[in-house]
Amino acid sequence: MSKEHGGRIIIFTSPSGAGKTTLVRHLLSKYKDRLGFSVSATTRKRRNGEEDGVHYYFLSEEAFLEHIRNHKFIESEEVYPGLYYGTLHSEVDRLSELGKNLVLDIDVKGAQNVKNLYGDRVLSVFVKPPSPEILIERLKQRGTESEEELNKRIERMQFELSHEDYFDAIIVNDALEDALKEAERLVEGFLGIRSERTTF
Ligand code: ADP
Ligand code: 5GP
Repeated sequence: MSKEHGGRIIIFTSPSGAGKTTLVRHLLSKYKDRLGFSVSATTRKRRNGEEDGVHYYFLSEEAFLEHIRNHKFIESEEVYPGLYYGTLHSEVDRLSELGKNLVLDIDVKGAQNVKNLYGDRVLSVFVKPPSPEILIERLKQRGTESEEELNKRIERMQFELSHEDYFDAIIVNDALEDALKEAERLVEGFLGIRSERTTF
């Protein structure tokens, strides 16, 4: 992404299973004219119901590493051992050309890197589960991972939870309705949208 790009960037980050996707989907549907989802590249396997180019660009490890060598990413991380994820320059440019503010769903390290690169143009939001036990329960209930993949996520959870202080805002995702409202409030404040919910 060129530094001249004038749009804003909203990042949702958290351990896997805390509720980023749920919050992001809601915001993209509510503010569809203003927000666009930055589709990341990944080497992980496609889940049932996921579409290439919609949820992720699914790449082989070889292709992903080639993209790193060719400086195609604004940031990339090996989020779990052997699994790579990254935000593509081309994706960010595509959304910028559409005049959209960007929504990123990325891990805590990627989130810090993007915040360091783009400073005040970024709102970084950490989504916090009510407790580690509830997080594990939600991940299991989601039922999208094999036992091995689930364990990789649980192993990384404490590392990710220890990063909550590095971000601009924290949403505790306990009662979903409250978390959705808080996400709306943060986005409206950051983008200067007058709330339709205000009553006098
Ligand atoms: P992430 O994108 O951070 O991995 P998801 O949005 O996929 O997390 O949420 C993980 C699971 O928890 C999903 O099955 C989702 O429907 C569920 N979930 C999300 N928020 C809540 C909530 N507040 N209460 C109960 N379940 C939730
Ligand atoms: P999942 O496999 O559950 O879709 O995502 C696993 C983790 O990778 C999540 O924490 C998600 O936010 C993160 N992630 C997804 N895309 C990117 C990306 O482009 N860059 C980084 N650094 N992390 C990402």
